[in-house]
Order: sequence, then structure tokens, then C-alpha cells
Amino acid sequence: MSLNKYRDKRDFRKTDEPRGQEPDAEPGTKPIFVIQEHDASSHHFDLRLEIDGVLKSWSVPKGPSTDPGDRRMAIPTEDHPLDYADFEGRIPEGEYGAGTVLIWDRGTWTNITEKDGETRSAEEALEQGHLLAWLDGEKIRGGYALHRTGGSDGNWLLIKMDDDQADRRRNPVNTEPKSVQSDRTIDEVAADET
Ligand code: MN
Repeated sequence: MSLNKYRDKRDFRKTDEPRGQEPDAEPGTKPIFVIQEHDASSHHFDLRLEIDGVLKSWSVPKGPSTDPGDRRMAIPTEDHPLDYADFEGRIPEGEYGAGTVLIWDRGTWTNITEKDGETRSAEEALEQGHLLAWLDGEKIRGGYALHRTGGSDGNWLLIKMDDDQADRRRNPVNTEPKSVQSDRTIDEVAADET
């Protein structure tokens, strides 16, 4: 059900993006996350967290920061299938999201949301608009807060928590541009796939 919006937006005869399998996360394995740089009509980074068998997704125009003083806008987008985490390439002109996608970072994550000293499930945290995620990626590590601002259809903010992985100077969005899957830059992906 949750992937209907994703599938409705796309023509899978034209785009190489995955149609998406039914949820098949293996019990006992850590949920994954991916951050995909997406050079579409507007350039942004898509943050996707595995929750409940799909990738819950936010479009982050400036990408993630390692500086706890930065508040990065995160616009919720439709759930994506788990195998989208492996997608890198071109979405053809005229198709939804047309442009180049690069796997900028990837790893596993842990829900560290607490309420009154008890862990709150990721599903509930999303509903409440307040999720704390510990990311174990290659570039992005440590705690991140996702806060919904305004009502239930409001935008979110992505903020680095002030932990030992915080770094006010690192700025990996600018200094570490290459794909963690293919070691290519986004211009190289675009050139290779046309
Ligand atoms: Mn996108």
C-alpha cells in the first residue's frame, strides 16, 4: 500500500528505478539508510530511512550538516522501496525526478528516540514528528534529530545532535562529493549514463 504513491509517479518502462519488491527485511538485521544526491530540476539530497519495510524519505535541499548549529530543511516525500537504496544513475527527461542520482552515503541506523526514559518506536516517533536517529554511514555518523515543524503536513528540520561525531568544520557535502558505491562524482555518473 505504502508504495502506491511511489509507483503512480513513475513509468517503469522508461525509468531504470526499481519498481520495488514487497517488504522483505530480514529479522534481526539493522535497518538501512541512504542519502542520495539528486541533481533534478532542483539540486538536493534525499535522506531515506528504513522503517516498517519501506524507505521513509525526506528531500534535504542543502544536504546533511555535521554542525549542530545548522538547521537543514527536510521536505517529506513519498515512501520508496528498500531496493531504491541501490539506485544510482539517470532518470530520463520527462520522467518524475528527471536527472542524476548518486549514492552519496549509506549504512545502517538505530532509532534512539526516547519518551519518558523509554524507547519510542520509529513508527510512533514519525507520527509524533520527532525522531532521533543514530546513523552509521561512511560519511555521516552519530545522532541526528528530525523534527516536524507546524502541523502534520508541515516540513521537517534535520539537525546534527551535539555528540562526539559533531564537527563544525567538516562540511562533507562539499568536501566528500563522490559516490560511496562507485567512487564517481555526479557529473561522472551523468556522463557515463548518457
Ligand atoms: Mn529527489
